Formats: sequence, structure tokens, C-alpha cells
Amino acid sequence: SLILGIETSCDETAAAVVTRAPDGRPLILSNVVFSQVEEHAAFGGVVPEIAARAHVEALDGIVGAALIEAGVAICDLAAVAATSGPGLVGALIVGAMTGKAIAAASGLPFLAVNHLEGHALTPRLTDGVAYPYLMLLASGGHTQLILVNGIGDYRRWGTTIDDALGEAFDKTAKLLGLPHPGGPNVERMAAAGDPARFLLPRPMRGEARLDFSFSGLKTAVRQAAEAAAPMRERHVADLCASFQLAAAESVADRVKRALARFRTEFPALVDPVLAVAGGVAANGAIRGKLKAECDRAGVRLVAPPLALCSDNAAMIAHAGLERFEAGLVDGLDAPVRPRWPLDETAAPLVGFGR
Ligand code: ATP
Ligand code: MG
Ligand code: FE
Repeated sequence: SLILGIETSCDETAAAVVTRAPDGRPLILSNVVFSQVEEHAAFGGVVPEIAARAHVEALDGIVGAALIEAGVAICDLAAVAATSGPGLVGALIVGAMTGKAIAAASGLPFLAVNHLEGHALTPRLTDGVAYPYLMLLASGGHTQLILVNGIGDYRRWGTTIDDALGEAFDKTAKLLGLPHPGGPNVERMAAAGDPARFLLPRPMRGEARLDFSFSGLKTAVRQAAEAAAPMRERHVADLCASFQLAAAESVADRVKRALARFRTEFPALVDPVLAVAGGVAANGAIRGKLKAECDRAGVRLVAPPLALCSDNAAMIAHAGLERFEAGLVDGLDAPVRPRWPLDETAAPLVGFGR
């Protein structure tokens, strides 16, 4: 089944075509992403109204490009999937309405996909990982530990009680005068810095619950920057390195605890997997710490290619494909949901037959 996927939840305008190969593996036929980073750079963050307008301008062309690159026509499709939440409401409406319009005009089923489900199922798209597995989703808007039990069956084991990890990277970058988006720039600066130069907290370390917290770390970075002012390039690099290490160790501590629970709850799993998704998964220091924790716990770390870790439409088309195959088709009246926790995504028995 050929599925067209559309993603417009934030600042990426994306479309992709995904199908299932005869041997059962999912196959990406095209994956087109237009990043609006330039549009928002001057504002130091994503401006919702600008994002929605940019989606309107770009989406037709991006969908057309995805179809051409895949070598398929709309009449070849089995269904159309569009991100319907969570995200910026104006941005979501553009993608969902476009998806519904294509579905309605061609008599195709429509699939309202949760953006987080797209991320959560990505290791199945890239590595064919079998259910159940543990997932660390760390992006600009989310930091969660999710037990992925099956299609539509997600248990949130932990989440951030304040800032998302990517947000902490972005705010640190902004504070230090580095360009948006902050994550890659902080990592680049950190490579030349001394991570032992500034002593920063490891939030939540040792806590029994599996939640995250990064606002205290952000505040500590600001205080360290103020104390060290005026900051020379050397200081900035050292503070980036110190922040990155603190963030990575905080995440590793939470993950270590989650891996222990995972091993206890699923003792018979032959190939236990921790998968990562979200833009922060691109960070080498964080990946390194996660790998070490996984090795210690006897768990395989699956880190999809960076292009599929950050926002893209292939993951939406793929989640749509799994939902379509499970009979989880939505109506054209499916709403967009700016807030939509992943554990509220309809499980098969609930969502069937709409
Ligand atoms: P959502 O949370 O809705 O998925 P998003 O657009 O923020 O939205 P992504 O595109 O997956 O999600 O990730 C972007 C985030 O990842 C940004 O906060 C960015 O700073 C961060 N990021 C990207 N590369 C790195 C890196 N190398 N190190 C640390 N953070 C990074
Ligand atoms: Mg993004
Ligand atoms: Fe995302």
C-alpha cells in the first residue's frame, strides 16, 4: 500500500511516500523536507504565524515533489496521512486540510497521525524493530520515555516536568549568543571546550520516577555565564561543553533507571531495544552516554539516521501505513489537536470503524 504522508506540525514542511516491500519491510520512496529555519532565524525561535504562512506557500510544491520523486500518482495511493497534532494549531491546519483535500478529491481514506507516534514508530521504519521496545524521544518540544507496546499502545513512563531537552539546548545557545537552532551550534562549540570548567547540576539524578527536568540546568548556565562575564570565546566553548555533559549525564541517569524497569518488566525479550528519536538524538555526547548505559544493561541501542530522527514526513507516512494496515482509518472530520498526548492515541479496538 502506497501512503502519502504530510508533516507541518512545527517549522518543517514535509511530504513523503512510503510503502511496504514484498518482504514486509517498509520502504521510503521519497522523503522531501523543506526547513523554515531561515524564516525564523532572525526571531531566535519559531514564530507560529510565519510558520503557518510558510507551510501554505511551500506545501503544494513539496507534495508534488514527493510524488514525482516516488514516481507515483495520487491515483496509485492507498491513503493519505497527515500530522494532526500535537503542534502549532495554524501549522497543523495547513497540513491536515491539504491531506483531507487530497483524500476527499480522490476518494482515499484519511489518516490523522499523532506526530509523536511518527517518532515512536521510526525504529520500525529504519531498523524493523519488533514490539515492544523502549523509546527516548528528545526534541525541541518533547522529552519522554515511552514504552512502545504495539500500534496505538504507548505507555509514557516519564516526561519533562518543565523544559524539553532541545529547548534547553536552544535557550543555552540564545543566552550565549549562538545562532538558532541552538542544538547543533552548542555541540559544535562544545567540541572545543572543557566540560569540567563549569560545575553544573545533573537534574533529577537518582530520583525514583522516570521524569526529566532541565529548567534548573538552564538557570545554572545563565548564572555561570553572568559570573564569567564578559565571556570570551574560550568561556563560551567551556560553558557549552559543561552544559552538554550535564545534560547528557542527566539523561543517562534517567535512561539507566528506565532500562532497569524495562528489563524487569520484559525479562524474556530476546532482543531488548532502546530506540532514540527527536532532533536531540543527533547529539554525539548524548548518544555516547546512551550507548554506554545500553551496553551495561544488555540492551541494543537503535539510533535511526539523523534525517529520520528530526521532523520529517516519512515517519508520518510510515505511522499512517501501520495504522492503515490495522484498520485505524479516520474520518474527514478528524480534528487537529494542538495538545495530544501520545497515550491518548486510539488503540486498535477503540479507533476501528470510524
Ligand atoms: P517537536 O518537539 O514537535 O518534535 P522540533 O521541531 O523541536 O519539534 P526536532 O526537529 O525533532 O523537533 O528537533 C529539533 C530540536 O533538536 C531543536 O531543539 C534542536 O536544537 C535540537 N538539536 C538538533 N541537533 C542537535 C544536536 N546536535 N545537539 C543537541 N540538540 C540538537
Ligand atoms: Mg523542527
Ligand atoms: Fe518532532
